[in-house]
Amino acid sequence: MSKDVLVFAEQRNGRLHPAVAQVVTPARALAAAGGGRVVGVVIGAAVDAAADALAATGVDHIVTISDSSMERYTALRYRSALAAAIAHLKPGVVLLPATFMGRDLAPRVAMRAGAALATDVIELSRDGEGRLEVRRPIYNGKAFGRVSFPAGRLAMATVRLNTFAPAAGGSGAGREAIGAPAIEGDARLTCTEVVRTGGEVKDVTEAEIVVSGGRSLKSEENFKLLYELAGVLDAGVGASRAACDAGYQPHSRQVGLTGKTVTPKLYIACGISGAIQHLAGMRGSKVIVAINSDPEAPMCKLADYAVIGDLFQVVPALTAEAKKLLAH
Ligand SMILES: Cc1cc2nc3c(=O)[nH]c(=O)nc-3n(C[C@H](O)[C@H](O)[C@H](O)COP(=O)(O)OP(=O)(O)OC[C@H]3O[C@@H](n4cnc5c(N)ncnc54)[C@H](O)[C@@H]3O)c2cc1C
Repeated sequence: MSKDVLVFAEQRNGRLHPAVAQVVTPARALAAAGGGRVVGVVIGAAVDAAADALAATGVDHIVTISDSSMERYTALRYRSALAAAIAHLKPGVVLLPATFMGRDLAPRVAMRAGAALATDVIELSRDGEGRLEVRRPIYNGKAFGRVSFPAGRLAMATVRLNTFAPAAGGSGAGREAIGAPAIEGDARLTCTEVVRTGGEVKDVTEAEIVVSGGRSLKSEENFKLLYELAGVLDAGVGASRAACDAGYQPHSRQVGLTGKTVTPKLYIACGISGAIQHLAGMRGSKVIVAINSDPEAPMCKLADYAVIGDLFQVVPALTAEAKKLLAH
C-alpha cells in the first residue's frame, strides 16, 4: 500500500462535479502529512474535459478510465473501474464526495477492495502512526463520532459536501490512461434514461445558497417567488416535506430527514416552521436566515438572522434588493 490519497473525480457529461475540488482540499493535507501524492481518477466515456478541470485543482497525478459503456453512471461498471484503479495504484486512502453517486459507489467499492469505510465525514487527519482518523456527524447532527481506521487496511471515506473550500492552483498533473475492466456481469445493469426533475435550477445538494419554502407558500405557482430570488442569487430551491406532499414541489427538492441533507453557505427558510425532521437536513448550513411570521417558530430560534414578517412581502423585497446590489 502506498501513501497516496486517491480522489474519485465524479463527472457527468464531461463536467467535473464541483464537490471534487472540495475533496481535493483534505486529500492534499493528508498527502502532505503522509508524504504521498494526490491522485484523481476520472471514469466515463469522454474524460478529457473533466481531467482538465481536475488538473486545475492541484492534484499530482490523474488516472483516466474511459469506455463508451460508461457514458452514464451505472453502479456495477463504475465500481469495477474504481476498484481497478485502486488495484493499480494501491493508495492508502480513497476519498469520494458524498454526492448521490459517491454514496452509491463507496460501499460497493469498499466491499470489492476489502476497505474500511466511513461516510459523510467532516474532518480528516492522520494519527501519530499515520493512520486515517475522521470525524462524522451522527444522530442527525446532534452528536459527532470519531472513527479510527485499522492499520494495514485501505481506508475509504465519503466527504460531506460544502465542508471544505475548493482546492485550486495547478495544471502540471501527469496523466495516465488505464483500461476499463470488462466484467460480463456488470452489463446486467444499464442506464437507459436520465430523468431530471425540478427543471434547470441547481440541485440543493450542489448549490452554495439554498432558498427553501414551506407549506405557507400555498401553491406551486407561488413558489415562483422563490425561484426568482434563487435566480438572482444563483441558488438552488428546496422545500419542506409539507410543501412537497402538497404537490407544490417535486420530492427531489425536499430537504430533511427523509429528503436531502444540505450544507450550503447560506440557507434561506421561507415560511418553514423548523420541525426537527426538517432541521435534520439543513442544520449544518453555515448561515441560516428564517423568514417567518411567527417569532416563536423553531426555525427563528435556530437562525442566525430572522426576518419576522409575511414572506409574500419580504421575499420580493429581498429579490429586488439583491438584484440592485449584485448589479454593481
Ligand atoms: C418520519 C417523518 C419524516 C419527516 N421528514 C421530513 C423531511 O425530510 N423534511 C421536512 O421538511 N419535513 C419532514 N417531516 C415533516 C415535519 O415534521 C413537518 O411536518 C414539516 O417539516 C412542516 O413543514 P412546514 O414547515 O412547511 O409547514 P408548517 O409546520 O405548517 O409551518 C409553516 C410555517 O410557515 C409560517 N408561515 C405561515 N404563513 C406565513 C407567511 N405568509 N409568511 C411567513 N411565514 C409564514 C408559520 O408561522 C409556520 O412556521 C417528517 C415527518 C415525519 C413524521
